[in-house]
Amino acid sequence: MNTLNPCPCGSGLSYSTCCEPIISGRNDAVTAQALMRSRYVAFTLANVDYLMRSHSARTRPVKDRKNIEKWAKSVTWMGLSILDTQAGDASDEIGTVEFKATYLENGKLQQIHEKSLFHRENGNWVYVSGVHR
Ligand SMILES: [Zn+2]
Repeated sequence: MNTLNPCPCGSGLSYSTCCEPIISGRNDAVTAQALMRSRYVAFTLANVDYLMRSHSARTRPVKDRKNIEKWAKSVTWMGLSILDTQAGDASDEIGTVEFKATYLENGKLQQIHEKSLFHRENGNWVYVSGVHR
């Protein structure tokens, strides 16, 4: 992807100043929401390495790696909306982000509506689990 293009997470920033530094590992996600956005972008790129790295070691779906990659590549990602965030700021240890992600699968518009839980591991935000709405 051209890093000057708008970031797929919909922030309005360019990819190079938004999620790219987080996905590449140059910067840490400052907030749970920033990590969530970077994970959405990683799905659009089918970047499973990053999806695993940004997932809590306790709940990381290592066995599903191949299927996640295959699925992420098979759909067309349409966009992300952040509906609500609780805590997850620079000074917090846990936080939740509620979001909707839309995608086309077999020509049909689908959406994931999830409230995700994040916490810090070794100081960095990671995804723990999510509840579908
Ligand atoms: Zn972004």
